[in-house]
Parts: sequence; structure tokens; C-alpha cells
Amino acid sequence: MSGVREKLRDYEYLLQRLYEKVPPKSSEDVYEIPEPAVIRIGSQTVIRNFREIAEKLNRDPQLLARFLQKELATGGSYDPNSGQLVLNIKVSRKVIKQFLNVFLNTYVRCPTCGSYHTRLERRGRTWVLVCLACGAEQPVPPF
Ligand SMILES: [Zn+2]
Repeated sequence: MSGVREKLRDYEYLLQRLYEKVPPKSSEDVYEIPEPAVIRIGSQTVIRNFREIAEKLNRDPQLLARFLQKELATGGSYDPNSGQLVLNIKVSRKVIKQFLNVFLNTYVRCPTCGSYHTRLERRGRTWVLVCLACGAEQPVPPF
């Protein structure tokens, strides 16, 4: 029995060593999307800090609004004055966060090098994600 326990301890030790060897994550690896401030009014959902979220993602709020409306198959309206997005559907903060992550990985993160230093370019009917770090270009689904 003690042999097993020793092996376990070795394993834990190895794991610990492994974690210690992993360098701390650079700011490139983590991307903190602001926590969506969601309130529900009747059958509508309001994202109060929508503009702040779009700015953090470095994308046009109108594009992000269109993405969410398409994904949620609902209508809505973005108010540039208040910075709020109203969606004509009841949706939880958790679901909104999931879609924000999809947006981040599809329209912000470079699939080649993982950088978030990117921009979206419209070329005719095509949208292209251009990476400012490695120069890769990736067509992305239209809005
Ligand atoms: Zn890149």
C-alpha cells in the first residue's frame, strides 16, 4: 500500500513541477471580456454595458449587436447614446457570455498565432480577420 501512496506522491510532485515550469500567462493568452450587466424587462433583455464590452473587444458595437441578434435569432436595437443593447428575447447572462466568447474566438482572435491584435476588414461581401501580429488573414462568417 505504501508503494501506491508513494507513487501518488511522486505523481503529485511531478504535477507540481510541471505547473511550476509553465510560465505565467502573458496578457496575450488571457482576454477578459467585461462581465455583461444584464437586466430583463418583460420579454426583453438589456445589456447595459454593451458599448464597454464592444470597446474591450475592439469591435464596432453595431457588428457585435448584429452577431448576437443573428445567433439568438431575435431582433434588437443598439442605442449609441446609452451604449445599451436591447434584445427582444429573454436570455440569461450565461448564454450571452457564451456567445461573446464565440465572437471573441471567431472575430477577434487570430487562429494562426492566437493574438488579439487584429482588425476586421470588409472586402466586398467578405469579412476578413487581419492579424496585426503575424499578418495572417482569415475569412470569417459574414454578419
Ligand atoms: Zn496572428
